[in-house]
Amino acid sequence: MDVDFECTMCGKCCHDLRLPLTVTEALAWLERGNDVQILCDASPWPEEPPQQNLHAAHRRRRSFAAVSGSLSARVVVILAGAYQGACPNLLPDMRCGIYERRPLVCRIYPAEVSPFIELTPGQKACPPDAWRSGLSPLLRSGKLVDSDITRMVQLLRDVDASDISIKQRVCRFLGVDSAAVWNEGFVVYSPNRVDLVTALHRAINEPMMPGVQPWHFISDRQMTVEALLSVGASSTLVTADKNAGFEYLGF
Ligand code: SF4
Ligand code: SF4
Repeated sequence: MDVDFECTMCGKCCHDLRLPLTVTEALAWLERGNDVQILCDASPWPEEPPQQNLHAAHRRRRSFAAVSGSLSARVVVILAGAYQGACPNLLPDMRCGIYERRPLVCRIYPAEVSPFIELTPGQKACPPDAWRSGLSPLLRSGKLVDSDITRMVQLLRDVDASDISIKQRVCRFLGVDSAAVWNEGFVVYSPNRVDLVTALHRAINEPMMPGVQPWHFISDRQMTVEALLSVGASSTLVTADKNAGFEYLGF
């Protein structure tokens, strides 16, 4: 598939988002007075998949090892700038108010960071005018050809992998220990801004504490919970309990 693209500055991609941020970007986001949520999902990982399994290798790279009950697992943690309506950095004329410092995920849009998700114009917020043929080449035969975006996609993948141990420590410091089952949804924590800034600085500067933090799987599907319990995992059905300390975002 060939795709040409040019941003029309309609601003649609800057609304109603949970915007994935690197650790450095999350700190800057918080220090500007905006909120960051912690999204967690986890996969059972009873044994190492073969190296040729590229999907597993990708997930392994952006996750940390954990245990749930007696089951090995891998946990993915996403720091997300969360807002309803317009992004707090969006100016009235739809320009980005932090353009020079905007997050990597904004710089690569509408490209995909996952190597396994195909860019589909119809699933993006951009209007038809942004995809007219004759604009700047973005994809040729399905492959990204914009060199700046290609470089930033790779940078984002690399930072995602190198941030993972910091995110693991942040979870430990904040008592974040529940995750949705991969591909079913996310468990979403909304920590106090000051607590999260403190935890991030501490996680950047301090080594990991000894010992292992146990994780819990949360699911909205009874069959999933039973399957996980049967293989020794700690797993519970999501409840509407306001005291759980998190929300469940099902797909
Ligand atoms: S940071 Fe800028 S580019 Fe990114 S969503 Fe906000 S306004 Fe849009
Ligand atoms: S939705 Fe697409 S065209 Fe509109 S501002 Fe975002 S990148 Fe540009």
